[in-house]
Amino acid sequence: MSQPIEKTEVQNLGDMPAEEFRRHGHELIDWIADYFQHIEDLPVLAQVEPGDLKAQLPATPPARGESMEAILADIDRLIVPALTHWSHPSFFAYFATSTSAPGIFGELLSAAFDVKSMLWRTSPASTELEEVTLDWLRQMLGLDAGMSGFIYDTASVSSKHAIAAAREGVELRIREEGMSGRKDLPLLRVYASDQAHSSIDKGIITLGLGQKSLRKIPVDNQFRMNAKALAEAIDEDKRNGIIPFCIVATVGTTSTSSIDPVRELVEIGEQHVMWLHVDAAYGGSAAIVPEMRYVLDGCERADSVVLNPHKWLFTPFDCSVLYCRHLDLLRRAFSLVPEYLRTPEQEKVRSGSDYGVQLGRRFRALKLWMIIRYFGHEGLVARIREHCRLAQMFASWVNESPDWELMAPTPFALVCFRAIHADKQANLDELNEAIMHGANATGKAFLSHTKLNDKLTLRLSIGNIRTTKRHVKQVWDILNEQLRQHTS
Ligand SMILES: *Cc1c(COP(=O)(O)O)cnc(C)c1O
Repeated sequence: MSQPIEKTEVQNLGDMPAEEFRRHGHELIDWIADYFQHIEDLPVLAQVEPGDLKAQLPATPPARGESMEAILADIDRLIVPALTHWSHPSFFAYFATSTSAPGIFGELLSAAFDVKSMLWRTSPASTELEEVTLDWLRQMLGLDAGMSGFIYDTASVSSKHAIAAAREGVELRIREEGMSGRKDLPLLRVYASDQAHSSIDKGIITLGLGQKSLRKIPVDNQFRMNAKALAEAIDEDKRNGIIPFCIVATVGTTSTSSIDPVRELVEIGEQHVMWLHVDAAYGGSAAIVPEMRYVLDGCERADSVVLNPHKWLFTPFDCSVLYCRHLDLLRRAFSLVPEYLRTPEQEKVRSGSDYGVQLGRRFRALKLWMIIRYFGHEGLVARIREHCRLAQMFASWVNESPDWELMAPTPFALVCFRAIHADKQANLDELNEAIMHGANATGKAFLSHTKLNDKLTLRLSIGNIRTTKRHVKQVWDILNEQLRQHTS
């Protein structure tokens, strides 16, 4: 229980005085600049145990306001040591991502404006800037003008909305009558490869379709969906009275960044009048690079595509973009305008709340717009191209070394590899796990793993705006040192 509050007079109602705001604001920007300049002195992976931070924080809220000095001092003392530093140039785990200065400014302004982008009139700037910025991004990606963009928080949510729109298109009155208690409704089916992201499963669960509705299709030896197996699965389901309505292709799978054959899947989708959604959360950004535009081949016939600027376009979390050819279906699935939200202009403008479960939405387009303007298409291309080059360089070191092997192709900036050993009896899963934990414990780098064909595989993902050849060379040296320690 917190302290009882006495009925004392609180002076100065209202916000922090302007002069104080100005002073701390300047200090905070200096703090952030120092943080980025010295980030390499900090361990990438937080070197704390579960509960360490909680044990140092008071269990009850302060009755009296505290000084910003005291609060900021605790950022240094308590918060920073408990951070895993995603902005560290040697963060190579999962999909390495990073924020950028113009993105931070965008977040700062967005917090100051604090608009709830739900109706055009509550946020004309947010609504229209979103449309324009996403059209710029669409052009950079080489997507056709039939695709309209919409910002959600994450790819998980973007994909869930895409599947909801696909279901709305099936004309089964699910919006009105739901799915439970209906004898007239056969099983509806969504297809994705067995390498698809778990967010597809979660979206299906959330939409009340049930996990049974997701059929996982096997992949080829390069982890790409087997189109023939998909066609057979759909035929079989149809024979059994199941309604196939959606295919989810992945461009840049989570384990290996493999690319499903979207062109072939589109053919199958069209043949059966199904929605084709492309999960390009990670890989989609690469299509802004002219020689990598092919990664979105086939999307000119897809129904929706998701990509995350917060993954590989230097945008602070969160910002996910859904491009959709049928915003009308998305709107039909989600629009619900109570009297208090009716406006005279509503027929002429876009209202964000019509396209999803949220009413209020953050002004996320601002940071993306500032990032695209500050770096320009060229600047963004140069950075992504460099990340791919660094990944190829690392992959070539792996390839040329007798101690390591590549476990999957490297179409983007993710390398899947593992240590091998002359002793055929050696347990390579244990060895690689020990190498990974050893490397992470140095605080000098952070890698993660996956399982491929039941083999523990290390993943090196390059995508941070600060990562250079020096960092990639350093992690290679650390890995080799760990290998020596665990095999001698
Ligand atoms: C990262 C990722 C996701 C999930 O992204 P969130 O924005 O965190 O929901 C989904 N699919 C793929 C292919 C991803 O790489």
